Amino acid sequence: MSFCTSILFFWHNVAHSGTLWHTMTQTMGRVIEIQRICQHCNITFIAKRTTTRYCSSTCSKRAYKKRKRDEKIKASNNETINIINQPLEQLKAKEFLSITDASRLLGISRRTIYRMIDRKELPIAKFGNRTILKRADIDNHFNKPLPIREKKEPKPVTEFYTVKEIEEIHHIKYGRLNTIIKNNNIPKTLYNVKLRVSKPHLDRYFKKVREDVSTITEWYSIAEAMEKHKLSRDQVYNRVHDNNIPKQRLGKYIRISKIHFDELFMIGV
Ligand SMILES: [Zn+2]
Repeated sequence: MSFCTSILFFWHNVAHSGTLWHTMTQTMGRVIEIQRICQHCNITFIAKRTTTRYCSSTCSKRAYKKRKRDEKIKASNNETINIINQPLEQLKAKEFLSITDASRLLGISRRTIYRMIDRKELPIAKFGNRTILKRADIDNHFNKPLPIREKKEPKPVTEFYTVKEIEEIHHIKYGRLNTIIKNNNIPKTLYNVKLRVSKPHLDRYFKKVREDVSTITEWYSIAEAMEKHKLSRDQVYNRVHDNNIPKQRLGKYIRISKIHFDELFMIGV
């Protein structure tokens, strides 16, 4: 604020404060009340000098910080603009590159370059907190053989169950076993004309079924299962028991998994 406006503020003060005498006395005693507006928070305050810009040291500090921050942002934006406007030819001639340079040169994201650095595919040097790449290393990268991605061969099955073993361990009958094998592509083979079923595959299937029981949403009551498949109560219980059908006890009632029970009748047991 100029001297003139300060005087104006002074007269403004004199005219409106209603304490003309008081103000004049102060003037005569060289104590001038100067009204100023804080350049940070915009409140009106009484200053001792015509050059005071802030109402308090807090506002002064905050204004300073804001100014510094704005300067930094401006500098950073300028840097970005400069990099963007930097001709590609100039970039191509550089022996040492920043991450941004390299990303522009290669037309890939900075993130991709950082990932390559993490995987130790590109050597870097640190200068302070700046990361610098060598153009030669980038060129060299083109000479490296591509990593051979090995195709995963399925592991040959070496462990098998006999049907008898399955019946004992998993409490299922041959018919249900056949459905499971068919529906889940479980490897099987014949050995001495007898069926052998891949142990790891079948174990995995039953593990999954056990875990899935908590996700079963459809259930039969025993009466419903009897009705649906025209069975006696004993026949339902026997099939549930023989085939290890997931079941739940609700008080004195038992309900059985609809999907597992229906599965029994797909090829007939
Ligand atoms: Zn203020």
